[in-house]
Amino acid sequence: MKAIIISIGDELLLGRTVDTNSAWLSQQLAGLGATILAHVTVGDDQAETRDAIDQAARRADWVLVSGGLGPTPDDLTREALAEALGAPLELREEFVEQIAGFFRRFGKEMPERNKVQAMFPIGSTAIENTCGTAPGVQARLHDAEVFVMPGVPREMKIMFERDAVPQLSARSGGKVILTETLWTFGQGESTVAARIADLMERGRNPAVGTTAYDAKIGVRIFSGGNTRAEAERLLEATADEIRARLGALVYGRGEETLADAVGVLLRERGQTVATAESCTGGLIAKTLTDVSGSSAYFLSGVVTYSNAAKTALLGVPADLIAEHGAVSSEVAEAMVIGCRGRAGADWALATTGIAGPTGGTAEKPVGLVYVGLDGPDGCQVREYRLGEHLGRDDVRSRSRWAALSLLRLCLLGEKIDSTWSRVPRPCGGTG
Ligand code: ATP
Ligand code: MG
Repeated sequence: MKAIIISIGDELLLGRTVDTNSAWLSQQLAGLGATILAHVTVGDDQAETRDAIDQAARRADWVLVSGGLGPTPDDLTREALAEALGAPLELREEFVEQIAGFFRRFGKEMPERNKVQAMFPIGSTAIENTCGTAPGVQARLHDAEVFVMPGVPREMKIMFERDAVPQLSARSGGKVILTETLWTFGQGESTVAARIADLMERGRNPAVGTTAYDAKIGVRIFSGGNTRAEAERLLEATADEIRARLGALVYGRGEETLADAVGVLLRERGQTVATAESCTGGLIAKTLTDVSGSSAYFLSGVVTYSNAAKTALLGVPADLIAEHGAVSSEVAEAMVIGCRGRAGADWALATTGIAGPTGGTAEKPVGLVYVGLDGPDGCQVREYRLGEHLGRDDVRSRSRWAALSLLRLCLLGEKIDSTWSRVPRPCGGTG
């Protein structure tokens, strides 16, 4: 089964929107045993879209199209499909009613121009959109199934999974390829790779490779099988082997983040966390609260950017800041102890550092970050020298992951062993 994916939209061509739809569809199709022949991107242009659909339908068995189904004059996919099929558009009243019903759910009247979304090429199959206004369309052209979906990723995914997947799996006869990523934090890519070197040998199935992304090292597994069940079984066996080799370094898989991992552990223990952030500007609190249900364990976060705020909101002594500077292990310790005490949390995290690009000195360069952690077993501060080459976003993002990883490992009771942090000095006291 051969497939071609077509993405439509000027903003994709101009690089203002990154085409995530094609990447996602490719992964799904590979998992269903399809061979992807090409990704095609065209602008909001009727003739280009018509030609792209026509040519794809001559080469592939399935053509997956997304975008350009909206109600505005630049949404031309319906017209282009009709032209490629040589079938005029007709209005289907039941879909006018469905679109109007979507607006009514939000207490709104359907604008007249949305009626155009109920137009379909004669002979084509309309596909209901349960979470947006644009219905999809399916039609047969040159022995290919052309499946047209809205551009909005969420709407596209729901429609693909509900309407295309059952048809595709019924016809799939080819090799199924599944991929999954296990995520690690705290060791460099070469250290991770060395522990699983034999699994990474060329020609192995499942194939295993590593990638570095935002200070995390991903271990990617590509598993091929004659059936989905076989590919899944092989993938899980390799995932188990990797977990066994890497132990606590692995914090999650797929879309899971360190915040998810921390959340699971805090829930299990019935414990809470609070944050006090300087250089990360609230990013740790944001990341913790990205997890739905985090109110069960996240109490509060303060951004204490100025020295005065560190004193007023966390009780960091002004003379401590004067003596050691705001970016110091002493201040990180006072921040985290003050935070934990004032929030009444089981755990607290604090950050203070130099995010750059300005503000670095020879003694305290850009990328120097102190992360404090206070908890039931006491307080610790770790010093990270993330590197002067990093941009501001990277320093802040990595500091966040370092802090969350430190909390995770302490929750697990693991000895902390990281290639890129050190303990600057023992902590004085605990709150
Ligand atoms: P709508 O009815 O919302 O206008 P549509 O089918 O016309 O839907 P588009 O206008 O093409 O879809 O896209 C809507 C939005 O969806 C875009 O602004 C963009 O943010 C997102 N989008 C579209 N195509 C893609 C894509 N290939 N990858 C990622 N995002 C996309
Ligand atoms: Mg649109």
